[in-house]
Amino acid sequence: MTRQPSQNRKENNEKLVQAEELFKAYMKGNAMRCTTERIIVLREIYKTGSHLDADEIFVRLKRKGLSISRATVYHTLDLLFKCHLVTKIDLGHKHTHYEKAHGVANHLHIICEQCGKVVEVTSNELAELLEKLCEANGFALGSFSLQVFGKCIDDGKECGKENHQSE
Ligand SMILES: [Zn+2]
Ligand SMILES: [Zn+2]
Ligand SMILES: [Zn+2]
Repeated sequence: MTRQPSQNRKENNEKLVQAEELFKAYMKGNAMRCTTERIIVLREIYKTGSHLDADEIFVRLKRKGLSISRATVYHTLDLLFKCHLVTKIDLGHKHTHYEKAHGVANHLHIICEQCGKVVEVTSNELAELLEKLCEANGFALGSFSLQVFGKCIDDGKECGKENHQSE
């Protein structure tokens, strides 16, 4: 089953508010200054609901007239990862992509290695299988984010579109 692309707006907003609270509490607990810049980076990720890389976030903010340095974006992503508010994913590019984690179900990413299309899939069967595999190997399943690479099929034909985003 594919996750709805446009989740309930109100629900999304609640998740964002909760994520902000968690982030503020994390920074406070680690004696860090809770700067507006850091909150802006968090909001950008939670509002887009997509898989962005650090540079994309930097460019999006810049276009909005928000001058936040690349270093701050990278550092903030690091902090957000440490407090489990974002997950890192590998889309087969040379850099890491990030996505929101709070209130998001564990899912699988199926990525077209030709054009870069990404589809998110949530599957209870897969979660059960992973749980069993973890158990059999002496683990309790935590969270997961999986990537599978393939070629998308359009009209029975394998994708032939070049991916221009894989630099
Ligand atoms: Zn990328
Ligand atoms: Zn494709
Ligand atoms: Zn995802």
